[in-house]
Amino acid sequence: MPLTRSRIGLRRKKSWPFRVLGRAVIEATAHPEAGSRLFDLLLLPMRSLILRQQPPDRRRIWDDALSLLTAMWTSMLRAWPTRRMGEVLHDVVATYSDTVPGGSPGFLVISPGKACNLRCPDCYANSATEMNALDYEVLSRIVQEAKEKWSIRFFTVTGGEPLFYRSKGKGVLDLCAENQDCMFLMYTNGFLINRKVAESMAEVGNITPAVSVEGMRERTDARRGQGAFDKVLAAIREMHRAGVPFGLSLTASSRNSDELLDDEFVDFFFRKQRAAYAWMFHYMPMGRNPDPDSMPTPEQRMRLWKRSWELMRERRIMVVDFWTEGTVSFGCISGGRPGGYFAIDWNGDISPCVFFPYAAANINDIYSSRGSLTDVLKTPLFRAVREWQEGYGYRQKDLTPETDWLRPCPIRDHYPDALEMIRRTGAWPTDSAPEGALESLEYQEKMSDYGRRLAETTRDIWCSCYLRNSSPKS
Ligand code: SF4
Repeated sequence: MPLTRSRIGLRRKKSWPFRVLGRAVIEATAHPEAGSRLFDLLLLPMRSLILRQQPPDRRRIWDDALSLLTAMWTSMLRAWPTRRMGEVLHDVVATYSDTVPGGSPGFLVISPGKACNLRCPDCYANSATEMNALDYEVLSRIVQEAKEKWSIRFFTVTGGEPLFYRSKGKGVLDLCAENQDCMFLMYTNGFLINRKVAESMAEVGNITPAVSVEGMRERTDARRGQGAFDKVLAAIREMHRAGVPFGLSLTASSRNSDELLDDEFVDFFFRKQRAAYAWMFHYMPMGRNPDPDSMPTPEQRMRLWKRSWELMRERRIMVVDFWTEGTVSFGCISGGRPGGYFAIDWNGDISPCVFFPYAAANINDIYSSRGSLTDVLKTPLFRAVREWQEGYGYRQKDLTPETDWLRPCPIRDHYPDALEMIRRTGAWPTDSAPEGALESLEYQEKMSDYGRRLAETTRDIWCSCYLRNSSPKS
């Protein structure tokens, strides 16, 4: 049975709390210490009130969401706040509160170019030297359409290396400059961030780079090449100097999971280097040299889950695990789900998610047949993914042991379901690795086995912590 809009957390039009929040963001970024104290004063009583109103099986989920919000706020204030950044964030919040219709995607991920200056051995995007790239006019049109049709004001730019992207003499920073009412999160290896680039980022004011590291020096150099760690630190120095808020992009694998969020790493990057946030992704065997055995094991995955919540709850450091923290987003957010997203790559192929590299449509084809972005939401694959999400707890009244949002991902955690959707809807692989996956019984068996082992590992935690709310602080 569908929940009411307020219960599942969809935004309402013209809601005054968003306007108040937007104003608070501007003032707080100009006065971070006062902002932090004010937030504590407001949030703590509100938090208990909100939690008391939830049914027992929603309490821990709301507790997660509020803890993430607190960590995000504190992280933002730690990241050299400027009034300029506050104003951009205010515009984003105000636009959402005034215009976002329920039911539309909340952001887009765009990979404008495949080219990259590095060759990491297991790159999820299988980046290359060739300049496969979206035409700048198409890129710009995507952003305009997303703004007009869905009021989207938040875009994630990834790659390849986004700073390598050029088309018609323009790059990612031109896109930021031309869309000052939007916020851009850019995943980058950081190698191309020199003084001039950092100053340009500060000047446009609406971009935050998430720089990739694999852990400390040894791990980062081992995956990204000798000297990679020093180049990242040099980029961070320039961003500090120019006043660009930055975060980290982490890839957890079976090799680095046990040390990725250890004290040495956290103290170095969050205290000393003053990174504002980190997004943590798990190695996805869909890019160069795919190897399911390199994914973090289910046990490693749950240790990372525990550690990331410890950092967010106790130290207010925003470290978000893109998969296991699916409780915060009520499960998978792909396929253009309300408040969720979809991904567009350098060839124009449109997939439910960057980690689900099977395309339902191509934006160049859509535009040449006078269509628009909304056409993709009606494609069989996107419909199938959204139906799967609803069958897996999203918008459902009752959560069950089977709709476990600690393993929310159709393609990583429920591979047979994803394979069935891909085959049934005629979606096409966007690259050679996802193409090979469709042919390899060994790959399919390993992915299915991973899902089975993960289910055995998370089931008790899901049931006791979330469904019975037995241990809200664990
Ligand atoms: S498909 Fe998987 S990785 Fe992508 S949003 Fe859904 S859960 Fe996350």
